[in-house]
This record gives sequence, C-alpha cells and structure tokens, in this order.
Amino acid sequence: MKKIVLVFVTALLITNCGTSSKSNTSSVHTNEARIVDPTIYASTITEEELKEMLYKYASDEFEGRETGEKGQKMAVEYLKNQYQILEIPSPLGDDDYFQEVPLEKQSVSEAKISVNGTSFKSFEDHIVLRASSNTEINTQDIVFVGYGIDAENYSDYKGIDVKDKIVLAKAGEPKDTNGNYITTGSSEDTKWTNGRQSLSSKRDAAIENGAKGLILLDANMFVRYAPYYQRQAESGVSGRLSLKSNEAEMMMLMVNDNLAKALHPSILEDEKPKELKTNLSLAIENKSEEITSENVVAFIKGSTKPDEILVISAHLDHEGVKNGEVYNGADDDGSGTVAILEIAEAFKEAEKAGHGPKRSILFLHVTGEEKGLLGSRHYTDNDPIFPLENTVADLNIDMIGRTDPKRKEGDRNYVYLIGSDKLSTDLHNISEEVNKKYCNIELDYKFNDDNDPNRFYYRSDHYNFAKNNIPVIFYFNGTHDDYHQPSDTPDKIEYDLLENRARLVFYTAWEIANRENKPIVDKATE
Ligand SMILES: [Zn+2]
Repeated sequence: MKKIVLVFVTALLITNCGTSSKSNTSSVHTNEARIVDPTIYASTITEEELKEMLYKYASDEFEGRETGEKGQKMAVEYLKNQYQILEIPSPLGDDDYFQEVPLEKQSVSEAKISVNGTSFKSFEDHIVLRASSNTEINTQDIVFVGYGIDAENYSDYKGIDVKDKIVLAKAGEPKDTNGNYITTGSSEDTKWTNGRQSLSSKRDAAIENGAKGLILLDANMFVRYAPYYQRQAESGVSGRLSLKSNEAEMMMLMVNDNLAKALHPSILEDEKPKELKTNLSLAIENKSEEITSENVVAFIKGSTKPDEILVISAHLDHEGVKNGEVYNGADDDGSGTVAILEIAEAFKEAEKAGHGPKRSILFLHVTGEEKGLLGSRHYTDNDPIFPLENTVADLNIDMIGRTDPKRKEGDRNYVYLIGSDKLSTDLHNISEEVNKKYCNIELDYKFNDDNDPNRFYYRSDHYNFAKNNIPVIFYFNGTHDDYHQPSDTPDKIEYDLLENRARLVFYTAWEIANRENKPIVDKATE
C-alpha cells in the first residue's frame, strides 16, 4: 500500500517529455531556414496507446512469444497488422513485412565408428561436437597434424596437404626448452591451450586448411564433456537454437586415448605431422531440426538523404511457456516493441504533414534475441536489407517500462543509456542535447562502464550493429525481480515512464534523421 501511494505522489512530479513550451528555446537545427517543431508529433506517443497495445502484445494469448513457436508467429502478425494500419510500408515491398531468419535446433548427434574393424562406443570413446549433415565416411586417408596448430610462427599444417581429408590432432601445444609455449614464447596459456577456446581455434585451423573433419584427442576435456553429452542425448531434450549457416559445417569429434591410439598408436609421443594408413569407418546421423522465424521490418523513406538509414530496433520474442506458465515479457521486450510502434506512428504523422525525415528510418523488430541475439545477427551478418556502411546509427530499446529497485539515488524518471559514446562522441552529444531540450530525463550511465560486470553492452541486439562500427544507443531500465519470470506482466509497467522514454528515443531519432550531418564515428574499432 505504502509503495503504491509513494509511486502515485512521485508520478505527479513528472513533466511530460516535450509537450511543454520549451519548443521556443533555441533549436538544434540552427542551419535550417524553416524549423519544424517535433513536439506535436511526439505528443502522439501516449501512455494510453502504449498501454492498450502492450496489454494485447504481452497477453497470455501470445504464449510468451518464443522464437519459432506459435506465439511468436502471432506476434509478427500483430506487428505487420499495426504497420498496415499505420500505412507504413515494408522495405521488402508489398505485404512482405517478414525477413526470414533460418534457424536450427541442435540436438546431440551420435557417431558409429570403427577403426581397422574394431568398433568404438558413443560417450565412452567419442562424442560429436559438430555435424551439420548426415555423414558417412570410409577412408584410409587420415592425416595426423600434431597439435593441430596453425599460428604465425608455428604450424602443424606446413607442407602437408589435408584438403578434403580427416585430420587427427591432440590437445595442448609444444613448449621450448625453457618451458615456454613456442607460439608465444611465454608460459601463459594461449588460445591453443585454453579449454573451450582451444577447440574453436583448432577447428578454425582445420577449416582454413580445407580439412573435411577434425578428430581431436583431449582426454581431460573428454571426461568432462562425455557425461554431459550423454545426458543430453538420453533426455531427448533438443538443444540450443542457432542461426543456420549456408555452408556445410565441418565435422568435429572429440575422442579419448583408447580411440586415438587405435588411429595412431604413437599419438601421445609424436608431434610430427604425417599421413596415417588406418581404416576408419564413420557414420553420423544429424538430428538437428530446421526452424523458421521472422524479423519484422517497416520503413519510412528519407526525403533528401534516402540512402542513409537510421535503425530503431527492439526484440519481438521472449521466453515462451515453461512448466505451464506463460512468460509474458511485458517489459522484456514488449515495452520496446510498443514504443517503436508509437515512434513509427509519430514519424508517419510528420510525413503526412510534409515533414517526413530527411534520412530513411528502418523500424526493425528482431526475433531470437533471448536465444542469443540471433535475429539481429542474421540482419547484420547474413542479410542486411540496407548496406551497413550507409547505416548511420541503431537506437535499440530493450526494457523501458519499469524501474530498477536497486537504484537508490535520483528520481524514477530516469533511463540507463549504454553505448552512446563508445563509437561516436557526436552521437552521445546529440543524445544529451536532445534530452536537455525536450525531456530532461535523468540519463544514467552506470552500466556504460567498459568494466561493468553485467556486460549489458554485449547483451542486446545493438551489439551486432556496434561490432560493425555503427554507433548505437541502448535504452534500458535495468533488471528487477520480474526479469525473465512469468510475473513480467503488463499491469506492472509504469506507463508514464514508458511514454517519456519512448518520446526521448523519438526526439533523438528525429535529430539524427534530420540533421545536416550523420553522427561522426571517431572511435571506430578494428
Ligand atoms: Zn530483452
């Protein structure tokens, strides 16, 4: 009770973002002959409309919007329908608002292996780390490649042809007489020595040298991995979703000493690469299942710089239904989703009045965020609808409808900003200036620190743009007790705050889309 009263009282103190008389103050668009006042359009972003949409979008009917499932399909239909009502087209043309995102659900595959007529057992002697298609191999062409290292100053692949062959390698890396690793000259573990990382490093080396498959002896990791793989296989639970790649994946097995010695009896002592003459017969049944999901895209074409694109993004998916409970994801990320719909409406109203944005705006609702930022990665890595080099910024919204109970200082009218200054000082300044001019929300940079242990900068969809040196701002209210719980429901959203934050994103987008120059990238990374 006390809490409710407190919320009510403080709510009265909040000024609406940008509907005051502040529009008379000096404008950011000083170079322009005619200054268009965005506050009239911002005022179309209202808590009533946000609330109405969110009660629908985060209702039980949408079943928690799990990627690839029925509820997620309902979510994308809902979004498409909203854009049709708003008469905002898709950049893909006609009624096609969906960018297909091909995914696969990976399950543990099992291999049947025999060496010189002796058969070996799944989980006791070998596990399949990667297999993308059904594989049947009968070969005598196996190449032992020592430690399987291909580094600048040391390579196990030098002078040996492994093209389309199976390579056999062992864990670890060689040391010099002083006990230092040869690859680095230091005793510190390297990417070739270090657990999980050594697996991907050695796999990459085999792929780069054209091998058809890699069999890795790593007895230490095998005893840890094998029981886990066996439990996964026996439980029948299908595993993680991942983006389906267009290229066939290279097969990779991990084996124990027993099987490795059958392939190459002196493997533990030998380091020198050589061709083996061993009869290997190998069959793998791939149990991955293909799943299709969708990003939803809508587009307002720029009036004078149509080839420059501003992306406004939020993820459309959530956690689905678990143990009979719907994970509604009202804050995560229903709040960002409906905010974008309202922002899109505001830009459309401006366009109708002859004040469409100068740059183009892509409203991007991505799928598979909760499964590992899959939809945004598909967009940036596989199928950017607009060239990334013409993409001027990404404003990403993920959770802006609640308050962080751990925040002790400042008022409730705040938002955490992450990433705004990481690539572009210019973007950061624009964001600050716009907020001062129209909103006066407390912009809290607590989680923007590079050393912040939460690493939020890497944990939502903007990151896939940032890694391509596209400046980003991530808008976020922080986590709370209902984060990733079935209790993240629309009745707990603070709609006045959601309205204010959505307006802030709108004003920032307005400035980026209409200003003379796009934000300068002054801190690009490699
Ligand atoms: Zn989220």
